[in-house]
Amino acid sequence: MATPTGLDYVKKLAPYIPGKPVDDVARELHLDPSTIVKLASNENPRGPSPKVLAAIAAAAAEITRYPDGYGYHLKDALCTRLRVERAQLVLGNGSNDILELASMAYLKPGDSAVYAQHAFAVYPLATQARGATGIEVPARELGHDLAAMRAAIRPDTRVVFVANPNNPTGTWSRPAEVEAFIDAVPRDVLVVLDEAYHEYLEPAERADSVAWVARYPHLFLSRTFSKAYGLAALRIGYGIGSTDVADMLNRVRQPFNVNALAQAAAVAALADTAYVDESRARNREGLVQLYAGLQKLGVPYVPSHGNFVLAKVGDAARVDQALLREGVIVRPVAGYGLPEWLRVSVGLPEENERLLATLGQILGR
Ligand SMILES: *Cc1c(COP(=O)(O)O)cnc(C)c1O
Repeated sequence: MATPTGLDYVKKLAPYIPGKPVDDVARELHLDPSTIVKLASNENPRGPSPKVLAAIAAAAAEITRYPDGYGYHLKDALCTRLRVERAQLVLGNGSNDILELASMAYLKPGDSAVYAQHAFAVYPLATQARGATGIEVPARELGHDLAAMRAAIRPDTRVVFVANPNNPTGTWSRPAEVEAFIDAVPRDVLVVLDEAYHEYLEPAERADSVAWVARYPHLFLSRTFSKAYGLAALRIGYGIGSTDVADMLNRVRQPFNVNALAQAAAVAALADTAYVDESRARNREGLVQLYAGLQKLGVPYVPSHGNFVLAKVGDAARVDQALLREGVIVRPVAGYGLPEWLRVSVGLPEENERLLATLGQILGR
């Protein structure tokens, strides 16, 4: 029977493969969910701040009403924190939404977008979903080769995606290099600078990227509450840019793209700076623990600027399956062109230990 045709470029999309939920693994492998350790999606192992949970409980009383489609209170908090104007902000259903909105407002069939090899999987997806062509620029030591990315920009290029730090590699480009890159990009090309792990960077490593926005009207920043703030399930992120670019993205978003619980949670999360600072400190300790353990096992890894580590285990598909059978969920990254590697999110100390011990057994070391 005939079915509606559907767009060719949509048929060619390779759907995003998320980290396996604990419940799925428990069901498939007949494991007790409480014994499973999930280090697969770069979530904050501490969970959100208790103040966030209280804010969500209070906001739950109002869920019969539509959320504030303009995000008044959250934008207020962001404006104060970042010293930007309300009209420079875009709120998203996760920062994934921000990336999609940028592609919706700036890419059409026949255009191209530039991104790096081993960069976050949503860039090719958001590009292909618009019927645009992705230009993948070979990585340098697994990280972004910004000079090559500049050189790859063509007359039909409308968007460049840069992840700093990048997921899944954990690589990071120095702020001065990133700024020089932005400056070298033609002003009619939108640079989407994805800073999903911004809060995990040490203050000295952080770019003053919000200040760049004032100098470079073709720059758009993307940030999220999913990682260091621990709100992944609520789906909330935001973008910062010139008022012109923000206006473009706000035109194509859904009127109520960010739900009320997420808005309330994000306001409370922003206010609890001590919780984020503590999360960053624990993450640093977790990274040190993972590095030491991997080194002991003779497993090469990439030093990370995020809350995860890329580890070279050899036959990663086999090791991944063996870890799953032992109730440890990590992230295979063959889809990123890294078939010998696994990405391990930093967990609580005991979770990191469990991963290392199980990996040691599997590798026979
Ligand atoms: C996790 C992640 C995101 C998006 O996460 P959201 O939950 O949609 O905010 C964006 N970019 C990178 C590089 C990420 O790792």
